[in-house]
Amino acid sequence: MQVESLYQEIILDHYKRPHGRGLREPFNTEVHHVNPTCGDEITLRVLISGFGDDMVVEDVSYESQGCSISQASASVMFDLVAGETVDDALRAQEEFLHVMHSRGEAEPDEEILGDAVAFQGVAKYPARVKCALLGWMALKDAVAQAATAHEEDLD
Ligand code: ZN
Repeated sequence: MQVESLYQEIILDHYKRPHGRGLREPFNTEVHHVNPTCGDEITLRVLISGFGDDMVVEDVSYESQGCSISQASASVMFDLVAGETVDDALRAQEEFLHVMHSRGEAEPDEEILGDAVAFQGVAKYPARVKCALLGWMALKDAVAQAATAHEEDLD
């Protein structure tokens, strides 16, 4: 099987059977992000526990609507960050951002990105990059807000 079609298969699979979908309680922060160029929307919640280096993303829950790329990307993201430390989640976010801004030139780190390497081909289409990044940008925003709020709670 060609790599390109394998990647399309992965994206289609996550689109048809999204992982971790649905808004859950409890949560620290909820954000709503939109990608106006395509009409994609996501509402995303995060639950953080622990502090400092041990701060963990206990859960990421979301409702999304829009194109298959934006929805599949949110599902892949859930697999990569739920249950991981905040540091690891943000490292994955940065690596994904790097790959998506590379116009298809970057060699994605499969150790870090897992199924998200399937979006490498999408990076060649500037119009679709924002679709793939929507969930990840919402995650970064929500985690930053949750981490701040969480640390204030501890004081
Ligand atoms: Zn889209």
